[in-house]
Amino acid sequence: MINKELKALGIHGPMDGTSTGNKWFSNGEKITSFSPVDGKKIGEVKSSTKKDYEKIIKAAHTAKSIWAAIPAPKRGEIVRQFGERLRELKSILGKLVSYEMGKSYQEGLGEVQEMIDICDFAVGQSRQLYGFTMHSERPSHRMYEQYHPLGIVGIISAFNFPVAVWSWNAALALICGNVVIWKGSEKTPLCTVACQKILADVLKANKLPEGISSVITGNAEVGKWLAEDTRIPLISATGSTRMGKQVASTVAARLGKSLLELGGNNAIIITPNADLKMTIVGAVFGAVGTAGQRCTSTRRLIIHESIYDKVKKSLTDAYKQIKIGDPLDIKNHMGPLIDIDAVANYTTAIEKIETQGGKLLVKGGTLKGKGYESGCYVKPVIAEVENHYEIVQTETFAPILYLIKYSGGLENAISLQNNVAQGLSSAIMTDNLREAELFLSHQGSDCGIANVNIGTSGAEIGGAFGGEKETGGGRESGSDAWKAYMRRQTNTINYSDSLPLAQGIKFEL
Ligand code: NAD
Repeated sequence: MINKELKALGIHGPMDGTSTGNKWFSNGEKITSFSPVDGKKIGEVKSSTKKDYEKIIKAAHTAKSIWAAIPAPKRGEIVRQFGERLRELKSILGKLVSYEMGKSYQEGLGEVQEMIDICDFAVGQSRQLYGFTMHSERPSHRMYEQYHPLGIVGIISAFNFPVAVWSWNAALALICGNVVIWKGSEKTPLCTVACQKILADVLKANKLPEGISSVITGNAEVGKWLAEDTRIPLISATGSTRMGKQVASTVAARLGKSLLELGGNNAIIITPNADLKMTIVGAVFGAVGTAGQRCTSTRRLIIHESIYDKVKKSLTDAYKQIKIGDPLDIKNHMGPLIDIDAVANYTTAIEKIETQGGKLLVKGGTLKGKGYESGCYVKPVIAEVENHYEIVQTETFAPILYLIKYSGGLENAISLQNNVAQGLSSAIMTDNLREAELFLSHQGSDCGIANVNIGTSGAEIGGAFGGEKETGGGRESGSDAWKAYMRRQTNTINYSDSLPLAQGIKFEL
């Protein structure tokens, strides 16, 4: 189904999963990548051993001073070329993303577009690594701050955005003068290999050394090597809150820096002033898009009691129209979950909804038969619940949508929306200015992303992306997220012929 694309991306036969750029080697166990689309084997990638990892670190260590010495706008030029190459390969890489991860082809293309967008952003940013200047309190002194590269940046990423999340990190880390080591998800190893090959070709064409962009492959154990390694000043980790807590404590124990992008539990508040036509489209796309496997997927709808029954009916009607099947077929709205374990989690969650007191309005279930041979296709679920149920408080990475009723003023809805451990994305649907502004104020949403009249799902690369509380607090992508990839230095220069001390302190010899 995808042989032509694999060939075009330089993937044939069993692949090594360790690379310093153009050199590939790997001595660990084989990981077989099966497509959730049809259950077929796509390929094999050998995982990295500790010895392989040490070679990666050595190459990265040598390359980091060479790369950091290249002026930032020239580093931006390399990232520009990478973006150009991605433009040429967009449909091919997009198809691999779709087939290996199971998202729709349109979303696969969208993911590659995000990579292109962040490259464009990073190119501009490479000329804008600005620090402030400030006036010194001492005469004939100058003060300013500047940003230097950190050295090696370790990137750990999740299966659901197998290429875009790496590129958000890599494009910015690279223009900031760092070299990068990436451990992609063990569930999407071919996407990792493909991306590395594309970037490595660009680096080679520019006669740049090995070690500027490296990859390692494997499970959590391989990720732990990065987290523990004192030679890596920054670990950027995207994945579950469980993983983030482990990485955060390991990195903090060595006083390293971590940038965490973890789970969400995203809600849309629907007030009596909502445009219901827009609301239903936003909610359904947010809940079933990518089969509910986005960190920003809509998990909860908090609906005012006066419109609750109307919204409920429109949603259940809309769910009857959802077509489930091969995500590469444009007529389908929803593809599969990533694997059988994810299906088991989904099934367990449905059981918990019922035992904890919820009512299933749209019952789920796994799909069997022609077109569903992978065993990863499930039906979307809508359940009436209360916000405090343990299952509602937990992120289930599947198309399960919770309906929660609120009465009284908007502050009650905001309280429900904030009353979860996670704090990634949130939205309000309202045409009322007062409601919108309250939601966006300090008394409103406590999330890193708060939208008005847009659903929770997805984001543009221009904004800083990330969330609060158990979502980890990190910010990636646009705005001033680049600062996380650099170290800040304050410089004071005395161009007088005396040595006045700060705060007027006198010290005479
Ligand atoms: P996961 O936590 O199982 O794995 C993510 C990555 O972390 C993988 O590469 C894995 O091998 C690695 N890993 C796991 N445990 C580790 C450990 N102890 N030390 C080092 N590395 C470790 O997540 P997943 O199932 O791949 O992805 C789904 C999760 O990711 C969801 O919770 C989703 O919300 C979250 N996510 C968040 C964002 C965001 O930007 N906030 C984006 C995408 C996904």
